Amino acid sequence: MKEKLLGKTPEELKEVAVGLGLPAFASRQVAQWLYSKKARSIDAMTNISRNGRERLAAAFDLGAVPPSACQASADGTKKYLFPVRCPKSFRQTTDSSELYEYEDSSVEAVMIPEDDRKTLCVSSQAGCRMGCKFCMTGRQGFHGNLSVSDILNQFISIEESGELTNAVFMGMGEPLDNYVNVKKAIDVLTSDWGFAWSPKRITLSTIGIVPVLKKYLDETRCHLAVSMHDPFDDERGELMPIQKKYPIEDVIRLIKQYDFTGQRRVSFEYIMFSGMNDDKRHADALSRMLRGLECRVNLIRFHKIPDAPFLTSPDLIMEKFRDRLSNQGITCTIRASRGEDISAACGMLAGKHNQSY
Ligand code: SF4
Repeated sequence: MKEKLLGKTPEELKEVAVGLGLPAFASRQVAQWLYSKKARSIDAMTNISRNGRERLAAAFDLGAVPPSACQASADGTKKYLFPVRCPKSFRQTTDSSELYEYEDSSVEAVMIPEDDRKTLCVSSQAGCRMGCKFCMTGRQGFHGNLSVSDILNQFISIEESGELTNAVFMGMGEPLDNYVNVKKAIDVLTSDWGFAWSPKRITLSTIGIVPVLKKYLDETRCHLAVSMHDPFDDERGELMPIQKKYPIEDVIRLIKQYDFTGQRRVSFEYIMFSGMNDDKRHADALSRMLRGLECRVNLIRFHKIPDAPFLTSPDLIMEKFRDRLSNQGITCTIRASRGEDISAACGMLAGKHNQSY
């Protein structure tokens, strides 16, 4: 498998150019084609000499992979399916170089149009190893980390590529479980030499892997969303195995050390399960836990997945829960479901499609 250009920094592109005998300034041209002009082939880089492009193409792939399928929802949401090859394992050869073994898999990205914005819900892993009981992605197990190139490809290879205004790392996988590649993708998205997006346009959603979350909060200025779903240790532990290793109390304690009173925002995602996490005891515990933190709680309807023994809370219960939080000074909204008819809503992504593009 050839190395990909997509995801490389200017320094790395300079090494590529010099290594192939191209002038060093060609690296700046390649960066522009990759990130400003969102070229989908090396041949499209027309201000690089034909010979230079041939040398580049002989050694590298650009990394643009078209979606293999796309489904459109009645509400305008679109779900794209991308084939990916993930490193499954690697072994040391006798000459001590490393040989990766790859597994073919697929991931989904969801484009959600709103009034004046188009948000891309990005995947960071094929499958997920976190095992949350209510999540279709978790159900399918872990198939590998996405490369930087696979993450960025979701931005450049969809029809709405040039119109995207925001991104949420809320697709398949736990982004902090693939932090090195996710961070590098965020660097490309937010650098002047890259997509030149403001960090305010990006939100990362996590279940709260505390030491990596600290790195994310220190190393980026992007927004944060935390999957809360239940304020009680035993109940959250039943839904989300991560609670046993990194209790939500520790996550909140860490978050409270950072400033969310300015441009940077933190929100808490709360899927409402009927009769499980939706009474006033939960609302009051949640409110106590978040006291003193400038934040928002998003209440989310549970979207039914096969064989899961959960039901979503009725609208009236959700409204009461929202009001109880609001009365205690917590900003709280009920999030509208998007793309449920094409299994693109929260917790439904599985990396499978029936319909061809
Ligand atoms: Fe993984 Fe997120 Fe699903 Fe949990 S909710 S299994 S972290 S993708």
